[in-house]
Amino acid sequence: MVNSKQVAGSKVEYQYKETTIKLMHSLFVHIPKWFQKLFSEVTWSIDTEKKELFLTFDDGPTPEITDWVLDQLAMYNAKATFFCIGKNIQAHPELFEKIIAAGHHIGNHTFNHLNGWKVSAQNYLNSIEKTQRLITTYKLPNKTPIFRPPYGKISPFQIRKLNRLNYQIVLWNVLSGDFDKKILPKTCTKNVLNYSGKGSIIVFHDSLKAAKNMKASLPKVLAHFSQKGYTFSGIL
Ligand SMILES: [Zn+2]
Repeated sequence: MVNSKQVAGSKVEYQYKETTIKLMHSLFVHIPKWFQKLFSEVTWSIDTEKKELFLTFDDGPTPEITDWVLDQLAMYNAKATFFCIGKNIQAHPELFEKIIAAGHHIGNHTFNHLNGWKVSAQNYLNSIEKTQRLITTYKLPNKTPIFRPPYGKISPFQIRKLNRLNYQIVLWNVLSGDFDKKILPKTCTKNVLNYSGKGSIIVFHDSLKAAKNMKASLPKVLAHFSQKGYTFSGIL
C-alpha cells in the first residue's frame, strides 16, 4: 500500500522533473508566487509585513567591487547577504572579514561555482561542505547555513540532501540581470524597481562581469527604496 505521503512526494518529484526547474533560472526577472509555492523546499522570498528588502550579492568576494558595494550599503545603513565562492574567500580573506565586520550575512555558493546539474551529488556536496568549513572558521552573524546554487541549478536529490544537512536553500524572487552583458544598466534598475516589494530577495553580483550594470543600478535601488521607507536586511 502506498501512503499519502509517498504519493505527495512522488508527485512533487514528477513536477520537479517535468515542470521545468528550467523556469527557475531562465532569466525570469520575477518569480511569481504560484511558482514559489510549487517549489516550497527552497526560500524565494521572506514572509514579512515590514517594508524590508533582502539584497543579495553572489560570486564574491572580489577586490574593489566588493569594497565598492560595502561603501554603498554603508551609506544607507543597509545590510545584505553575500553568497560567496569558497575559492574567492580563500584568495581574499581580509575582504571576506570586512564583509562580516560590516554586519552583513554570509551564504555558501560552492567552492568553485559548480553547476549542480553537471556534477555528481557527491562532488557537489563536497564543494559545499568544504566552503562551509571555511566560512564557519569566521564568526558569522547568521546562525543557519544558507546556500544558493550557482546558476540556480540544483536537482531535487541535492535539495533533499542539503535540507537534511540543515542548509536553507535560498533562491530569489527578483533578478536584476546585472551579469547579462546584453542587458542595459537602466533595464537592471527597472527590473528591481518594478518587481520588488516587502520581503523580496533581490540578486546582484559583486563580480567583475556584472560590475558595470551592478554599479549603475545598486545606488538607484538603494535611494529609491530608502526614500519609500524600506530598510535592507540580511537573510536569517
Ligand atoms: Zn553565482
